[in-house]
Amino acid sequence: MSSSTPHASRLAPHAIQPGSMLGVLGGGQLGAMFTTAAKRLGYRVAAWDPDTDAPALKLADLPLAAPFTDDTSLEKFAAAVKAATYEWENVPAAMVRALEQRVPVRPAPRILQTIQDRLAQKTFLAERGIPVAPFHAVTSPDRLAVPDTVGFPALCKTATLGYDGKGQWPLSGPADVGSLKDELRALPREPQRWIVERFLPFEKELSVLVVRSQEGERRLYPVVENVHEAGILSTTRVPARIDQKTAGQAAALAGSVADALDGIGVFCVELFLMKDGQMFVNEVAPRPHNSGHYTLDACPVSQFEQQVRAVCGLPLGEVKLTSPATMVNLIGEDFTKATTDERVRTFLRQSGAKLHVYGKKSVRPGRKMGHVTFLAVSADAAWASASALKQLLG
Ligand code: AMP
Repeated sequence: MSSSTPHASRLAPHAIQPGSMLGVLGGGQLGAMFTTAAKRLGYRVAAWDPDTDAPALKLADLPLAAPFTDDTSLEKFAAAVKAATYEWENVPAAMVRALEQRVPVRPAPRILQTIQDRLAQKTFLAERGIPVAPFHAVTSPDRLAVPDTVGFPALCKTATLGYDGKGQWPLSGPADVGSLKDELRALPREPQRWIVERFLPFEKELSVLVVRSQEGERRLYPVVENVHEAGILSTTRVPARIDQKTAGQAAALAGSVADALDGIGVFCVELFLMKDGQMFVNEVAPRPHNSGHYTLDACPVSQFEQQVRAVCGLPLGEVKLTSPATMVNLIGEDFTKATTDERVRTFLRQSGAKLHVYGKKSVRPGRKMGHVTFLAVSADAAWASASALKQLLG
């Protein structure tokens, strides 16, 4: 599925040429894959992350290991790069705003600021008529409540800094509200804000990657189907098991979200599909997304190369699927097994799977260490290989 405006072939007037240095804020696996894509296109990369072991720092031409609040690093980064992007929405907004005074930051910091706060994001979407789960703002633990407009079961999420299911609490009835109040009061980082939203008993989780260029061109990758375990993405299947009409609706909704944000770059729109066909937006990421990793192996141009192209003002690339695929994340000990357990290693060799390892120093529970993409002649065959791997991983 793809769409583009009539201006698709025009080059941006100030396209950034190969040889220039691009900046990426955040040096995790997404920053590393951006770096690899940029270097393949002839760019140099400055990567900035507080963690000296961050994967992108090992690949970057200019690695900066320093807190994001460090002014000397900001100066160095701003002086070195022609344009910057980010791989993580929790980069401090004030720093990104300061960087924007010096070099173009894509997507724009105003978008980052809206997205990095769940309350601001949901309010932004709801105000534009985009369907989201009914929600309620909570400004202190004492004010934690589930109003009738939200109802039980509900979820309480931190407004900021939550990811991979961290900072989320289920609320099945009024008794849970009392005990969660105590838990929230005991949290160290006050003042805090939370969002309480209706738990939606979705049939499927879908996501759509939307790429937008400086010239107003827009392209959409196919709709994918995601399975989460304990709030963390486990598996992505592409194409999703949905009919064409539903795929069209998902694409239209995702496109309207990206257009409402009006940004340059890669956006991932996560959706809940209900039994009756209704769709809700869960959240938006202003960057490549884990559910788009399959594009590295199953599309002519990956989501990371699109990020490079969008940031540099180059024409966007092809978004079509060259093969059905299923991606499986290797989380925590999965990775140890995938690399040391002989049965898993043999399986990966036999199935022709593509293994990606992020090069993180230590294995921790819940940490994304790598992923495997299965390509096959049919989506069911790719899914079957992924299921067999999941079974072996236990
Ligand atoms: P999030 O960090 O908001 O993307 O949430 C992580 C995962 O939790 C989602 O991918 C869903 O599987 C689940 N989740 C989040 N919000 C809701 C909701 N309102 N209703 C049902 N499940 C949810």
